[in-house]
Amino acid sequence: MPELPEVENIKIGLKPNVLNKKIIDIKLSTIITESHKNEKLAIIKNELNYFLENIKGKTILDLERRGKYIYFILDKGYLITHFGMTGAYFVVNDLSEIDNKNYFKHKHIIFEFSNGEKMVYSDIRRFGEVRYIEKIEEFKPFNTLAPEPFNEESLKYFLEKLDSKKYSSQPIKSLLLEGNVFCGCGNIYACEVLYKEKINPTMLAKDISQNTKEKIFNALVEILKFSIEQGGSTISDYVHTDGGEGNMQNFLQIYGKKVCPLGHETENITIKTRSTYYCPKCQKN
Ligand SMILES: [Zn+2]
Repeated sequence: MPELPEVENIKIGLKPNVLNKKIIDIKLSTIITESHKNEKLAIIKNELNYFLENIKGKTILDLERRGKYIYFILDKGYLITHFGMTGAYFVVNDLSEIDNKNYFKHKHIIFEFSNGEKMVYSDIRRFGEVRYIEKIEEFKPFNTLAPEPFNEESLKYFLEKLDSKKYSSQPIKSLLLEGNVFCGCGNIYACEVLYKEKINPTMLAKDISQNTKEKIFNALVEILKFSIEQGGSTISDYVHTDGGEGNMQNFLQIYGKKVCPLGHETENITIKTRSTYYCPKCQKN
């Protein structure tokens, strides 16, 4: 699943290829049109005519990211995308340029630009979501999402949430994955940061000192920044994500490891349904 750093890289790669492009037509897969007849709403989460009518003829003025969403700012309204497990965008002159067979096969939305290029949304497992919305402030998931991690107010917000009645008695590991506490920390990053700070993942927020909470926050921001830098591998006019982790896997210390860097055997436990790697010797407290 693309996490915040991968989505940031998708945005960076996609932006120069879509700015000021006018969408003149949209083609949908049979899977989308059939699913909408059965009210299953595959991928497009609006009523189809509403979606088509509001996007056709619009020009893309800008592209932004919020959490794991990207949104195209149109000359009126917004086109929002969440990539789910396997969503991807491609900007091509010809569909045959999509040389990944799986993505080629699972093309679901083709936005045709007035200059002849096409922006293709492909999604193999179809957990992604694409929708038109008139006003961005009316998009509910953004209202409950913690501030962007690189924003100034983010640390204060994080500390307040960890102290709150709702969250203070929960294990720190699951709180790091809570979008309402911290925006954009995937499972791998949560394990890595807790290893780095020598915190046992089962520790409750209220049992962690203020100073350590700040250290955890700073380590999260650092690993996200580092990961964005490591994932910067986008090919000019051919933008994609394969749901991979970029180069980050080369830098992991604990996630997926049998032994920690000090040679201790790691443990893999489940905390709130998520697989959690840690070292019982290094992360004792
Ligand atoms: Zn260890």
